[in-house]
Amino acid sequence: MKHDVQLTKDFRLSHFNCPDNCLFPGVFFRNIELLAHQIQILQDHLQEPIEILEAYKCIAQNTREKGTFESQHIIGKAIIFQVDRVETMQVMNIIDDLITTNFIKQGVVMIWDKKVYYDISGQNYRWDLR
Ligand SMILES: [Zn+2]
Repeated sequence: MKHDVQLTKDFRLSHFNCPDNCLFPGVFFRNIELLAHQIQILQDHLQEPIEILEAYKCIAQNTREKGTFESQHIIGKAIIFQVDRVETMQVMNIIDDLITTNFIKQGVVMIWDKKVYYDISGQNYRWDLR
């Protein structure tokens, strides 16, 4: 997809683009749109800006980064981000609360350094890699 699209109040499709800037495949658009909605809800809840570091990655990019074949990034269901003024453990706990109360979708949450990984795979895993 060539055109940028406003997905939610604060997030555009270009925020979720592959690092190598390849064209976003339309087949995964619904996944990215769904992911963007979860991130918008989280940001509204945090009341702090979420800085998206990585989201969609094509298979070529994923291979270059030695990612796994099961990567949720290649289907547009995973995101890595940071929130400067909120501690990662607190972000993870808030995501967990929002999942438990059905505000956002179930998925894997991982934290390390200042980064947070979240996906909408439906798998219920929490990893603290700090
Ligand atoms: Zn790519």
